[in-house]
Amino acid sequence: MKDTLKHVGMRNKLAEILKTKGIENEQVLNAIKTIPRHLFMDSSFEGHAYQDKAFPISANQTISQPYTVAFQTELLEIQPNHKVLEIGTGSGYQTAVLLNLNAKVYTIERQLELYKKTSIFFKKMGYRPKKAIFGDGYKGIPEEAPFDSIIVTAGAPEIPRALLAQLKVGGRLVIPVGHEEQIMTLIVRKSQKEFDKKELGSFKFVPLLADKN
Ligand code: SAH
Repeated sequence: MKDTLKHVGMRNKLAEILKTKGIENEQVLNAIKTIPRHLFMDSSFEGHAYQDKAFPISANQTISQPYTVAFQTELLEIQPNHKVLEIGTGSGYQTAVLLNLNAKVYTIERQLELYKKTSIFFKKMGYRPKKAIFGDGYKGIPEEAPFDSIIVTAGAPEIPRALLAQLKVGGRLVIPVGHEEQIMTLIVRKSQKEFDKKELGSFKFVPLLADKN
């Protein structure tokens, strides 16, 4: 599989569509224009890669819809060298968007098959997260905390306490909360003890699974 001018053209169009849907951050739009999303998907779905849709990847999981990726990323307000924790590596597409914004990325995936596949893919593509971990995202990575921001890319029944605890003061957590449908929730840590919460519309994600499942 390779990246061609035709793909670049389709990505530019996709970025335009995301702009009409309300994405404003130029760096986020630029990441969408740059990253070859079709290479993150099984080749049978390649033709769909630049539609604004979620698609199946291995292990019954999905690559998030480009709008959702852009929306969540914009909410993180990433600055270069920010330490960002991602829960749900999946295809690695969101990881690549974060890396494109020059974040230091720590990412966790709980499906072994996907973890292995995506780790190999990262190497092949030269994407370098600081850490890609096979494990349970509910726990975060305490030894690497605090993070400037945390993004959860699976639907969480509730906000994991460990993730709140691993957020810097001033840091941002973007997490879809709910069961059948999720409310995109932005938490900003105001102080050691205070957290601000904003709810920003409904989305549909695969579930964030606990280890016991
Ligand atoms: N960012 C990914 C989204 C993949 S879907 C992408 O754009 O491709 C969500 C992912 O979260 C799935 O890969 C799923 O296996 C993973 N996941 C679910 N529960 C998890 C948990 N407790 N810890 C870490 N990852 C989890």
